[in-house]
Amino acid sequence: MDYVSTRDRTVKVSAAEAIARGISDEGGLFVPESFPSLSADDFERLKALDYIGRAKYILSYFLSDFTEEEIDYCVRGAYTGSFENESPAPLYTLSENTDILELWHGPTCAFKDLALQLLPYLLTTSAKKISAEKKTVILVATSGDTGKAALEGFRDVPGTEIIVFYPSDGVSPMQKLQMDSQKGGNVHVCAIKGNFDDAQTGVKRIFTDSSVKRRLAEHNMQFSSANSINWGRLAPQIVYYISAYCDLLSRGEKLEDGFNVVVPTGNFGNILAAYYARKMGVPISRLICASNANNVLTDFIRTGTYNKNREFFTTVSPSMDILISSNLERMLFELSGCDDRTVTELQSKLSRDGVFCVSGEIKERLSEIFWGGSCDDRQTLDTIGAVFEKHGYLCDTHTAVAACVYGQYRSETGDNKPAVIASTASPYKFADSVLSALTDKTAGSEFGNVRLLSEITGTDIPKPIAELESAEVRFKNICEKDKMLSAVYASLGI
Ligand SMILES: *Cc1c(COP(=O)(O)O)cnc(C)c1O
Repeated sequence: MDYVSTRDRTVKVSAAEAIARGISDEGGLFVPESFPSLSADDFERLKALDYIGRAKYILSYFLSDFTEEEIDYCVRGAYTGSFENESPAPLYTLSENTDILELWHGPTCAFKDLALQLLPYLLTTSAKKISAEKKTVILVATSGDTGKAALEGFRDVPGTEIIVFYPSDGVSPMQKLQMDSQKGGNVHVCAIKGNFDDAQTGVKRIFTDSSVKRRLAEHNMQFSSANSINWGRLAPQIVYYISAYCDLLSRGEKLEDGFNVVVPTGNFGNILAAYYARKMGVPISRLICASNANNVLTDFIRTGTYNKNREFFTTVSPSMDILISSNLERMLFELSGCDDRTVTELQSKLSRDGVFCVSGEIKERLSEIFWGGSCDDRQTLDTIGAVFEKHGYLCDTHTAVAACVYGQYRSETGDNKPAVIASTASPYKFADSVLSALTDKTAGSEFGNVRLLSEITGTDIPKPIAELESAEVRFKNICEKDKMLSAVYASLGI
């Protein structure tokens, strides 16, 4: 299977190249030239497999330049022993026709683990195919979840070094501690004096500086990226939607009229993976795109106009505080019938004016497949309380946005088909907010609140969070934002 660029279909690369390069030279994103379609037979076979088996089966379509042994090595390495359950993505039945797809049983308690546990294996295997023996250096700028998940994923992976920059005042105390206490011999963490944009701009500048590239090459090293536009992060996400469908079938669900999938959305990666699963034959009826107060996608799905020129809100679901959803580009490619010229035009309007408007035809297709809705912080917290009261189920702030928007969808459309709600983080990762949804009490400290939440709800504190309280802080360096390059060289010892 070859991959083409969303901005130039004549650019054609192998899976290994798409993953190792991350992004195409003219700025487009890599997408499969065609998608496999799974038959009833395929689903029967998949049903009988465990998660690792299903992942190998599905990924082998997308990694056709990998050998069977390579795929086995990658998938086993990623999903053996790193998740607390037997399946990394179990279903929890909330009510008669609603299931929760819990994606947060990995080492950092957020759904990004599903992709970032596998990406390092895919990346190093790809790099070996393309340029043997070079060490891969991963640079990440993070506002929280991605940095920690990437650190855990790349920790002690042979042939890699990972350097994460985060804004010293721009992450939660829990996220800061998660990163500063990161274990591993190839990990480097550095806070910078500045905000997230400073971190991201700094990383981009280092990334594209040819003199830096040369210096790395002299030491037999090369940069690569772990951010969510890398195909190696999307492919693993398709697996869990197909796996969830298999679990529903195994349970005896008929699903003749299909089922709906609800996804709390930021960068559009997770919901795009659900769309790809639908395209491959999973009978997903409607994809419900849930946003917080930063509801640029809700407006887009409803009107066909994407406009990022609006107020930015800091919310209780911070991982969805995004105004530019970078993976939407791949969806535009789909909706336009793989028209690279249309995508290029829309993306250049977006970067020039911050706004674009799609054709009537695209708009129609968009609203056939997707339904968009949003809610504010008050509604998010109310939903956490209501879901806990009604079902005894504790959800985090991001999942609550999805649950709230799903309620809106049902009452506005009357569509009561079975639904799967993607749950993207453990409630303990956002303990302060979740606690405030249930009680006025607070314990006055981060870990006090974690314990209080556990006492009040009778739920267990995930091990990675409990262990954090006594974790040794390894990284204490804060650097000026214009000293990031020196920090990179120092980390790499070059
Ligand atoms: C990253 C993240 C999201 C948003 O996912 P996208 O793929 O960017 O749409 C939602 N919830 C949590 C907890 C996240 O970390």
